[in-house]
Amino acid sequence: MTLSSVQPGELNLDNCAREPIHIIGKTQAHGVLVACDPQTLKITQMGENVAEYFGLTFEELFGNDLSYLLGEEQVKQLVEMLSFNETAIPQDILINDKNFLMQVHHSGPNLVLDFEPYQGGQSSNFFQKQLTQILNQFQAAKSVDQLCKAATILSKKMFGYNRVMIYEFDEEWNGKVIAESREEEMGSWLGLHYPATDIPAQSRQLFLKHRVRIITDVNYTPVPIIPELSPLTKEPLDISRSGLRAVSPIHIEYLKNMGVGASLTAAIIVKGKLWGLIACHHSTAKHLDFYQRESCRFLAQMFSTELSLQENSALISQGKLSESIRKQLVVQMNNENDVVTALSKGNVKFTQLFPCGGGAIFIKDRWALNGNTPEKTQLERLLNFIKEHPKSLFLTRNLSAVFPEAKAYKETASGVLCLKIADYKYIFWFKPEEIQEVNWGGNPKDKAFYNEKEQRLSPRQSFEKWSEKLTGISEAWQETDKEIARALRENISYVMLAQQQEEIEALNFKLIEANKELKIFSYGLSHDLRAPVRGMEGILEILDEDHRTELSEEGQKLLQMSRDLNEKMNNLIDNILEYSRLNHSDSLEVKSIDTSEVIEEALKFVNVQGSYPKTTVKIQSQLPEMRGERRMLFQLWSNLLNNAIKYSSEEENPLVEVGTEKIKGHLVFYVRDNGIGVPPKLKEKIFETFKRGVGSRFKGTGIGLAIVKRIIEKHGGEVWVQSEEGKGSIFYFYLDPKL
Ligand code: ADP
Repeated sequence: MTLSSVQPGELNLDNCAREPIHIIGKTQAHGVLVACDPQTLKITQMGENVAEYFGLTFEELFGNDLSYLLGEEQVKQLVEMLSFNETAIPQDILINDKNFLMQVHHSGPNLVLDFEPYQGGQSSNFFQKQLTQILNQFQAAKSVDQLCKAATILSKKMFGYNRVMIYEFDEEWNGKVIAESREEEMGSWLGLHYPATDIPAQSRQLFLKHRVRIITDVNYTPVPIIPELSPLTKEPLDISRSGLRAVSPIHIEYLKNMGVGASLTAAIIVKGKLWGLIACHHSTAKHLDFYQRESCRFLAQMFSTELSLQENSALISQGKLSESIRKQLVVQMNNENDVVTALSKGNVKFTQLFPCGGGAIFIKDRWALNGNTPEKTQLERLLNFIKEHPKSLFLTRNLSAVFPEAKAYKETASGVLCLKIADYKYIFWFKPEEIQEVNWGGNPKDKAFYNEKEQRLSPRQSFEKWSEKLTGISEAWQETDKEIARALRENISYVMLAQQQEEIEALNFKLIEANKELKIFSYGLSHDLRAPVRGMEGILEILDEDHRTELSEEGQKLLQMSRDLNEKMNNLIDNILEYSRLNHSDSLEVKSIDTSEVIEEALKFVNVQGSYPKTTVKIQSQLPEMRGERRMLFQLWSNLLNNAIKYSSEEENPLVEVGTEKIKGHLVFYVRDNGIGVPPKLKEKIFETFKRGVGSRFKGTGIGLAIVKRIIEKHGGEVWVQSEEGKGSIFYFYLDPKL
């Protein structure tokens, strides 16, 4: 990484994760790299050390045919190999009487050839023995510990490095040495932790892809690839797949600071994820040829497979235990009406599902606590925090890092797994704090310093053991814990749903009963109110007729107001009584009714001629008969006509028309007027009780249309309004013709 790529404020080792090591532009010195155009086989780029290895200069080779370097015969073999797409197999090559092992791969439109000097290696018999040894030793391991130990011993013996370690990553990509084999005189690094920045993200990415990486000599002089840009792409050559790729200067310095002269590293990959590394260190320069590196790759692969098996079998046995507990909990829930009691008070408790110190269930406003948990008030605050978390499963082993006030109860709940079952329904499991002493290889906080001489960042210089106490952290949650928790959620939801259904049915029944009572009550109430209000009407009438002159002007005004209010109350009571009577009776006395006759009667009742002499009422001749309860149909027409006449009464020529129309297969009656109209937002509302769309300008109680709607519904029909504000309204309705 060059300094120019980093802004001053962001100078830290994490930035080195952005160092473009795949286009580093240089190789290590233990071999030589040549690139060519696979179409023309013209040489396009090469390591500056070509002369040293091949005795041929850049000028001689650049742009020249590959056969100039390899000879016709070897190029022919190469072309054949490429046609079979067999680049993985290395070739023995002879150039100017020197033996090389050539490895070929494609990099974008370039063909890259790695040459390493090769004097012939071990027999295939030797490798077969090695492989058998690896298989036997790994399969004999009874635990992950034994497996790791076996891997370090084997690797050390097979590859001859001074120190071999198994390095495991944690969730944050810090590494820990969990097994080690070393020369006796070397100090142990077993148990040491290394911060994530020691192996930055893009190096981990390359390990995941290419598995094995050799650094032959930390004191090597990097060999530039010339020209710097590929003539084919006009970009630096991507050499991430090349075994010769140079090493980031920061990493070289890091290894030097550690006292390492050469290294070989192989990736341990479990379930597609980089689990850790087999790291081999040597105090001086050391090279392994391709075939030995392949053995190392095989060893790492076998190790990864065995490790997955060992980890899986541990998880499976825990999973089986949890599974049987979950089943028992389901039985308890089915036998017990209350889910909370079933989970927290039965023979088997929800806290036995997986290893934890305690747990809590929160349903609506009820808490049930089991084992060691924070206090209720603390839990309530924690719940509010978790509610903001979008996922239904929240888990952490370091709660105070995300929710600082949890420090107060870290002894009981550093680890939390919280499952949301539904709104207001949560289950918590808690794990206690486990104070850990972590020994770092050097102080991890001394990540980097600026190296004046090199004009770039340098890794820490001291790798002396540095101990740190980690607090507020619990044992980790397992993948199976999450699965079991999710399965339990399914079970709980199912049981609760069934219970809720029963509850809803019971409530529904109660509601129907209550509704019946309410109908009877409101009917009774309005009925009982009628007599005193009528009585008062009579008294006010007498007062008006016989004693008016005895009253002052003010007194007369008040008397008039009392009469108006009394009339309003009278109407209101009549309407409520009518409305509740409708609700009260379930059956209908259906008869065929002469529609014109009912309308005539209703108009008389409204007293059009007396009260609204200006209004013209036009009624379609030969209106069809209606079927329904006569009293109700009279009420229906009275209300609709009354409204039409009332709300058009202020027009110059008020006109009300009654007729029929065929709409969507129904014979529909309409009452049309040219009055004030209904504002669009009120078109639905006006059919509700006590909803009025006008002020005190027009008298009314707001119940008329609710009565209309109720009557029509009782007759299996529908009512709606079409209107334009200021221009008039049309109320349409039809009744069930099959009545
Ligand atoms: P109200 O006693 O207020 O007339 P209704 O239930 O009969 O009560 O009517 C509810 C509201 O619907 C009225 O307040 C009025 O705003 C509106 N409305 C009803 N009929 C008409 C109509 N023909 N023209 C305009 N507005 C109407």
